Amino acid sequence: MNKLSTRVTEMATSATLAMAAKARELRGEGKDIIGLSLGEPDFNTPDFIKEAAKDAIDQNYNSYTPVDGYAELKDAIITKFKRDNNLSYKPSQIVVSTGAKQSLANIALVMLDPGDEVILPCPYWVSYSDIVKIAEGVPVEVPTSIETDFKMTPEQLEAAITPKTKMLWYSSPCNPSGSIYSKEELRALADVLVKYPNIVVVSDEIYEHINYVGAHASMAQFPDMYDRTVTVNGVSKAFAMTGWRVGYIGGPEYIARACNKMQGQITSGTNCIAQRAVITALEAPVSKIKYMIDEFKNRRKLILDLLSEIPGFKCNEPEGAFYVFPDVSEFFGKTFGGKKIENATDFSLYILEAANVATVTGAAFGEPDCIRISYAASTESIKEAIQRIKEAVS
Ligand code: PMP
Ligand code: GLU
Repeated sequence: MNKLSTRVTEMATSATLAMAAKARELRGEGKDIIGLSLGEPDFNTPDFIKEAAKDAIDQNYNSYTPVDGYAELKDAIITKFKRDNNLSYKPSQIVVSTGAKQSLANIALVMLDPGDEVILPCPYWVSYSDIVKIAEGVPVEVPTSIETDFKMTPEQLEAAITPKTKMLWYSSPCNPSGSIYSKEELRALADVLVKYPNIVVVSDEIYEHINYVGAHASMAQFPDMYDRTVTVNGVSKAFAMTGWRVGYIGGPEYIARACNKMQGQITSGTNCIAQRAVITALEAPVSKIKYMIDEFKNRRKLILDLLSEIPGFKCNEPEGAFYVFPDVSEFFGKTFGGKKIENATDFSLYILEAANVATVTGAAFGEPDCIRISYAASTESIKEAIQRIKEAVS
């Protein structure tokens, strides 16, 4: 066996995908595992979107697409940005990619030189830190806590900025904490950023529609931030289309062009059938997917109520996305079934072994006191899982 690159050997395996694979493996061994590790809606893709994909096959959409996406899809994205976010983009500012994950990887690869720093408020989505490292950038973690609803303050942002800071990346609604930055909170961060014109902001808004508290705010809505913000979005979550692999950005033209160039050497345009289906998804009124959001809202209440009955679980009230992110540090130092729990990773593994419930350690999100539990699962699974966890820690 030859030596693999340092790039891959030093890279962490995606903890969310690893836990999902582990759950699948244990199920294969006959164990009754409840998977609450993966952030993936348990709904099927809505029928009206599936029909559009079938039509696309019949209409012989089978060739390479433009690298940055079909013109009609870019138009649908432009209309969506205007309709939902009051953001105006030209087609040259939009790039469609193989999932928002690739959008983020493109941005890292086109923006970062070795040693450039990217500020990541913790907890951040699991792949941010490794995507930055793959591009030879340096993730700069800014710890937050449950007391501030896991949000970064303007003072913390300013303290993290150095001459090497190139970007700030965050998600709102946040995976994993479910926190949402209000317009005022974003403005307060923007007031810091305007003093540092070289910092580009990556605003990951993939959970935009999974919002239980009201208005969604985008950093690019501020005129003084528009030219330096890349808005990342996609259809995986709100439209239950994780496997279709379509994400997109709207942003400054020079960044969009660079992402297009990068993607042209790595993957080309994403799948033609999926792109046609996404045109239909994005053109539909948001009311067509509301039944899923309403259901997630019910499950959020259910899981918060159930978790509140387990001593030692400290939860914030997530305002969006479909995760709870309890602080489980009260269990550290305790021994269960002969196993000492030193940290959240031990706790998550213990829950997997003792309760057959798959969760993800907060350490993968830069928050070592917490675990992430996805409630994008049936109410029966949620009830059974939390009951099992309760028994395992009692
Ligand atoms: N950003 C966040 C915050 C996510 O939770 C996910 C989950 N998959 C992604 C980006 C990537 O989404 P996808 O590649 O499926 O579009
Ligand atoms: N974003 C989802 C999650 O956080 C899907 C898994 C992944 O893409 O890593 O679980």
